[in-house]
Order: sequence, then structure tokens, then C-alpha cells
Amino acid sequence: MNLHEYQGKELLASYGVAIQRGVLVNNEAEIDAALAQLKEETGTDFAVVKAQIHAGGRGKGGGVKLGKTEAEIKEHAENILGMMLKTPQTPGGLDGEGKLVRKVLITEDSYAPDFDACKEFYVSIMLDREQKKNVIIYSTEGGMNIEEVAEQTPHLVHKEHIHPHLGLQGFQARKIAFNLGLTGQAFKEMTKFISKLYKAFVGSDASLFEINPTLKTGDDRIIAVDCKVSLDENALFRHPDLAELRDTDEEDPTEVEAGSYGLNYVQLDGNVGCMVNGAGLAMATMDIIKLSGGSPANFLDVGGTADAARVEQAFRIIMRDENVKAILINIFGGIVRCDRVAQGVVDAYKNIGDIKIPIIVRLQGTNADIAKTLIDESGLEVHSAIELAEAAKLVEDLIK
Ligand code: GDP
Ligand code: MN
Repeated sequence: MNLHEYQGKELLASYGVAIQRGVLVNNEAEIDAALAQLKEETGTDFAVVKAQIHAGGRGKGGGVKLGKTEAEIKEHAENILGMMLKTPQTPGGLDGEGKLVRKVLITEDSYAPDFDACKEFYVSIMLDREQKKNVIIYSTEGGMNIEEVAEQTPHLVHKEHIHPHLGLQGFQARKIAFNLGLTGQAFKEMTKFISKLYKAFVGSDASLFEINPTLKTGDDRIIAVDCKVSLDENALFRHPDLAELRDTDEEDPTEVEAGSYGLNYVQLDGNVGCMVNGAGLAMATMDIIKLSGGSPANFLDVGGTADAARVEQAFRIIMRDENVKAILINIFGGIVRCDRVAQGVVDAYKNIGDIKIPIIVRLQGTNADIAKTLIDESGLEVHSAIELAEAAKLVEDLIK
């Protein structure tokens, strides 16, 4: 689960990590109060307006704007709020349709007091699956696209692996500060920044922290200016407060809706809709569809309790996709009885009505025979099969 920059910064601050201060603005009416509050907290007129969307590269797309007067900042905020922001990371890239900006963060201009003495670094933390350890990746080349830095000047990207039981050691934090070329107060601040950042990463069960830029200010403080945080969804049950930070506006609407019915749905671009119980069986079903000459339109796991209501929701979601030419329902009746699912399919078919594409149902397991009879005798255009190969063949024939 991804967080917005403002949420990530709050999370960091709760672990004592120094951040660029800012105030969140949800609509134009909140701009004046936000500016007043920011001025009171920071004492400066200079500020930066930053679009809050789940995508990086906002600066490149005009979603990060500096202002030197209250009027200028207000104008930026009004322009950015509600804009369709295109960045290299929004769908379709800079030529795509962009993403709607619903919130902006107005921050202090952390560079303004002494711009020339500022230095931008890159710091990220993630899991290195090959080494089975968390890794801190850092570079003196902050503020820019790290993929480009890694390609053109790989020697400027450093990695520090962290022992899973010992955690981040003092010498490691000092090594990072040293490699970033820091001395004196800034060196000390960087070691503190890194150790608190690592505590926050582990403490929040995050899967990615990317602080780009991490800034050394003119007065030698080290602060997080940008902040990308992804949390491990499987650990969210341990963090109910963080789970609440989910912003479904930023996710695929159909996938969000499917999730609300307990369906695990991923949209693909083929022509055969699939409805399956169990992720492994769903994968195998997609393979079989491919083998028989079709191409899956989606991945859909209806879960262990495929009752009629859920089958109906799944149907509706699959049929919204105009590319779907046939639906293959493949259910293994282990915990759930096949006849119950069959009844669900028949009911859903009747309730939805006007289904013009062929539906092939393959039910295997408890009461599979009863289920097949139920479907065959329902009088509906639903084809039943017991063997998976038989089902795949039916799909192929019916599409043709
Ligand atoms: P991103 O483009 O989505 O990665 O957004 P960032 O938060 O990284 O902002 C983009 C760029 O704006 C940064 O790399 C900085 O160079 C610049 N920037 C961000 N905050 C400030 C600030 O307070 N003052 C100045 N002068 N520049 C800033
Ligand atoms: Mn950035």
C-alpha cells in the first residue's frame, strides 16, 4: 500500500526523523489558513506547493512549484489543485491523461535561507530478496532519477546491507554519512537521520522508503524533503492507524470494488473472463486458457466461500470488460460444495439477465455430479464440464 508524501512525512516524524515542514490543503478554501499556519511555524514567506498523488516525478510535470510571495504561492496552489498532473510515472507517462490532484502540500522552502550551501542526497531502504536482508541504498546524486544515476554513474550508488537480527549498527550509519562526503555537524545529523529512518522502516513494516531528495540544509540539518513510502499490506493488521491512510482514489476503481466484495481481481487484456476459487487454481486456469488458444481477460480469485452473492458480483465485474468473449468458471469444491456454487451461478445468471456470451462451468470435487445436473437442467445457456481440458476445449469452440 502506497502513502502520499504528506502521510509518509507524518510517519517519519512520529519516529523522530527530521522532515521539511508543511501543511496539507484539501481545497481552495483552506489555502489562506494553511499559509498563515506555515508562516507562523517557519517564519518565512517562501514556500513550495506540492501535488499529492501516488506517483513520483511530480517536479517534471509541474506538480511542484516554488513561490516567493503569498500571492504567488496561492496562485500555484489554486492551479495545482484539481489539475490532471502528468508525470513520467502516471498512466501513459507525460503523454497520458495524468492523474487528478485532490490535495496539495504547502511546505516551507527548505533551500531558501542558503540555497548554495544546500546539498541533495538520495536515500532509500528496501528488502534485497537475494541477500535476504534490508538494504540502504544511497548516493550523493540526489534529487534526480536514481535509475539514470545507476546506469550512467554506477560507482556513485552505494549499498549497505543490514543484518536482520543485529539491525543497523552505529558504524554503518557513520559509513553512510562518510561516503556522502559529510563532516562536522552535518555528519552527526546524517547518522541520526539514517538510524531513525531505519527504525521507522522496520517499525512500520514498510517495503519501501525512498527519500529523494534527502537534504543537507544551509545550517547543516538533514531533512526529508520528499518521501515515498510503501507499506507491506500483509502486515497492516498490526498497524490499524496506518491501514487508515489508504487512499482508494489512487487505486484502480474496479480492483477496489472487487476487493470490497472479498474478490481478488486483476484486470488483464485477453478475451476469456475467468472466475476461480484459489490463487493457484486461478493461475493454472489461465495457463490452460492460453494453451487452448485463448487469452485470459483477468485474474479472479473468488476465495474459499464462493456463495451466490459473490458469484454474481464476480460476474458483473467480469462482464464490464468489453473484450470478454466467454467466461470460464473453474471451481474446486473442497470446503465449498459444488452444488451450492452451481446454484449460485444459475441464480446470478437469471438475476443479471441478458448475458450474450457463452459461460462454461467446470466444477470438480464435492457433489460435482449434482452440480453438473443442476446446470444442465437449468435451461440456461450455461455449458458444464467436469474435466478441465474438456472445459478449455469448450471455451475454444465457443469463441470460434
Ligand atoms: P518529485 O518530483 O515527485 O520527486 O517531488 P520532490 O518532492 O522530489 O520535488 C521535486 C524537486 O523540487 C526536488 O528534487 C527539489 O529539487 C525541488 N524542491 C523540493 N522542495 C524544495 C524546496 O523546499 N525548495 C527548493 N528550492 N526546491 C525544492
Ligand atoms: Mn523526489
